[in-house]
Amino acid sequence: MLKLFARFYFFIVIALISLSALLDNVLFNDNQEEEFLKLLAISLTQVQSQQQLQQLQQESHYQITLLPAQSISFPIAENSFEQSKYLLTYNEEGDAFIYTRFDNAQILQTILPAPERSGSGFFWYSLLFFTLLALLTALWLWPVWRDIKTLQGSANSLKQDGSIAAVSVPKGSSLRVIADALQQLSGKVQRLLNNQRELTGAVAHEFRTPMARLKFSMESIEPSQNKQSMLEDVTELENLIQEMLEFSQSEHHTPELAIAEIPVHDLTQQVIASITAHRQDSIKIHNNCENQLLIADGHFVERALLNLVNNGLKYAQHQIIVTTHKTKQQIQIIVDDDGPGIPDTLKEKVFDAFYRPDKSRARHKGGAGLGLATVKKIMSWHGGHCWVEDSGYGGAKFILEFPLT
Ligand code: ADP
Repeated sequence: MLKLFARFYFFIVIALISLSALLDNVLFNDNQEEEFLKLLAISLTQVQSQQQLQQLQQESHYQITLLPAQSISFPIAENSFEQSKYLLTYNEEGDAFIYTRFDNAQILQTILPAPERSGSGFFWYSLLFFTLLALLTALWLWPVWRDIKTLQGSANSLKQDGSIAAVSVPKGSSLRVIADALQQLSGKVQRLLNNQRELTGAVAHEFRTPMARLKFSMESIEPSQNKQSMLEDVTELENLIQEMLEFSQSEHHTPELAIAEIPVHDLTQQVIASITAHRQDSIKIHNNCENQLLIADGHFVERALLNLVNNGLKYAQHQIIVTTHKTKQQIQIIVDDDGPGIPDTLKEKVFDAFYRPDKSRARHKGGAGLGLATVKKIMSWHGGHCWVEDSGYGGAKFILEFPLT
């Protein structure tokens, strides 16, 4: 970044100096003026008689007068007359004074008023100066802007696996360091994600055997309320481990989908039926897709819907409403609840693997933060989408949208 600052700083300084030098040279060429005055002074040295003087005074519009030789500082004049036969000076206003020797006692003084530099001249000078400066700055900034756009494109292309599109910034670019850092960052994210996946799979796998042994040993304990609650905890743990294993497997490869025509209504009924009877009471179904077929893998769609309904059961206060809905091009399965809902800032994040916004609440409700990530994955396998909105019932409204064909 220091390199970029230094380059820009030097560019501005050099551009300012060169532009003002160039414009001064082109617009206000003082050298030409001086040459003219010198030539005029040389010709004035030839005026030596009263007759020549009168003729000159009549014909020229300069102010020409005869002065006694003592009226100008003698040593300077003497010096100058010896060297070049004339003396050229300027006053503060820029008027030129030419002195030439007329005779031994008198000196000829010719006054030329300073050339006029009008206000409009200054305006055009400034306009040209700043236009050229703006043009040069734009020329300098254009490649920087182009490289920033490339960086932005690459950063936006960040995929789920942490990879980004190749950052093609030219070698000499000031932003090359940032491009390299971005590429390295993507590599690190990829490695971290890979490690996380492998760890999840390995841990879940290693947990399965001791878990099975624990469950088997518990079978031999006398039935009691404690045993029941311990068994429930073990089952919950088993489900979690299963969820983590399946997720880590699905991360490594997309399964072969058994695509078939599934009646949407039957599918929702089946999912609700798989939930324990006393919990079913709070679930309502609004079916607007009578006889409508969904072209999908039934097992995975059931799994996605079950995840949403189970979440609804965890967070709803009183009711969960499952609605099926058909639009021109899509079939939607919507799960509404009257729970706390999901704040706008978290509506996308809750679909990330292992993401649980409120740790204490999520811990209390169980779950590894993989349910919605699994739903998202299943929907992407089917070329569909899922998202969450605010529900008219006061809680969250999850929408699964499948293409009709
Ligand atoms: P978990 O295993 O924690 O349930 P999920 O991926 O299913 O993981 O959900 C991620 C987070 O989204 C949950 O921890 C919870 O905070 C939030 N969430 C999911 N469903 C709902 C819902 N119906 N109402 C409110 N919050 C929800």
